[in-house]
Amino acid sequence: MGYNAFLERMGEVNDLLNAESILKWDARTMMPPGGADTRAKQLATLTVLARDHLVADETRRLLERAEAETASLPADGVERTICAQVREAIEYHLRIPAALVHKRAEVGSIGQHIWAKARADSDFGSFAPVLEETITLNREMAECIGYEEHPYDALMYRFEPGETVRSLQPLFAALREGLLPLLKAIGEKEPPPVGFLERPFPVASQLEFALKMARKLGYDTDRGRLDLTVHPFEVSFTRNDVRITTRVNDEWMPKSLFGTLHETGHALYEQYCDPAYTRTPLATDLIGLYAVGGVSFGAHESQSRLFENHVGRSREFWELNYGELRGTFPEQLEGIDTETFWRAVNRVQPGLIRVESDELTYDFHVMLRVEIEAALIDGSLSVPDLPEAWNAKVEEYLGLEVPNDRLGVLQDVHWSSGQVGTFCNYTIGNVMAGQLFAAATKDDRVRNGLANADYLPLREWMTEHIHRHGRRYSRDQLLEMATGRTLDPTDYLEHLTRKYSDIYGI
Ligand code: ZN
Repeated sequence: MGYNAFLERMGEVNDLLNAESILKWDARTMMPPGGADTRAKQLATLTVLARDHLVADETRRLLERAEAETASLPADGVERTICAQVREAIEYHLRIPAALVHKRAEVGSIGQHIWAKARADSDFGSFAPVLEETITLNREMAECIGYEEHPYDALMYRFEPGETVRSLQPLFAALREGLLPLLKAIGEKEPPPVGFLERPFPVASQLEFALKMARKLGYDTDRGRLDLTVHPFEVSFTRNDVRITTRVNDEWMPKSLFGTLHETGHALYEQYCDPAYTRTPLATDLIGLYAVGGVSFGAHESQSRLFENHVGRSREFWELNYGELRGTFPEQLEGIDTETFWRAVNRVQPGLIRVESDELTYDFHVMLRVEIEAALIDGSLSVPDLPEAWNAKVEEYLGLEVPNDRLGVLQDVHWSSGQVGTFCNYTIGNVMAGQLFAAATKDDRVRNGLANADYLPLREWMTEHIHRHGRRYSRDQLLEMATGRTLDPTDYLEHLTRKYSDIYGI
């Protein structure tokens, strides 16, 4: 009885956060610009309500009763896992004073305007004071949350629980060691031609084809839809309504296609969560206050990167699906064979902008941001010295000179919204995708499916090992159950080396 009342209370927290997500989806797809100010207030109100509902005396009373009632059940069972997660989340939020949360949100909303203008003018100086304040507030936040070694660990906790500055060092070192020589070898080779992708491709047909591929990979459009936006994202309002967005550029066709496959991977994670977890803490991020079933941002990114890169950018995928693409765009792809298309959509070109980077150089953009954020938070790097430190790392990792701050340190939206600690999940997602794909393709059904354009066995393997569990297990527990190991870059490095050696003849 007590446990059910407690679960219903947690369902209400989930409802509030889902309502907030719908307002966010609307703001990013449909809302006219005039709605921005009042919408920001509506979102802030719902976040506060959800947090207050979570930490309220009534919730704690219900939690205590639920704990007492479930005390004799197995410690790793669903009931006690949920109780433990809710207790941890309540303690987490009570450690952070409401005034600090409010202040950071306020600086975040002012910061976005200042950043947008600073970026347009390529003027770091005008953004520096806001950034200084953001760093100070995040340091205070880290002190409240608590950490063992590095204050940045406390900030990463919300996005990638368990990951630390120390644990990332060997991972990053292995990636540098594996990828820098490969990147150098590629730089000495002739790049594949890509000019044909820059021809105009009709927007409606691009969307139609992208959605067709998304469905083929398992995206259920009875519980989802695809819309246009400026910055693509996936968002779910329970597993029964999981939406994706993409942007369409009629002069660079891969953007919408691979963007859609990426968001499809995110969507599958949400759509195939165990239905029994709907409205429970196992489908709610109670630390980050976000209604989501994925266990960490890195785990979520593993699914998007897996379906985008390991499936969507593979030679096998295009050997089976290129005919249909060429049928859709007969003029644009005239005279272009499968091999030429596949090589073109995998071209490596070190660039200055993270969101436009290719599969091979992406991790360098992530590493430099994580290293810089950690240094800003522990004070070993000061805000005025930031552009210089940024440019030096871009030179070191990508061999490029940064001509101005707009193309350098001002390019990401993250810091302007008050957020620090989110970047590592992109690389963790890549590494985890490599590991999961290698494990999945040991299964004959999965391999045969991929060889016959039948993606159901792969989706089912991911559902069995990842999707259905929601937030029940930690990221490393999931990896261990699915692959026999915790996070390990070996498979990912092997995948990149094999693929790019093939494409570039190294
Ligand atoms: Zn993603």
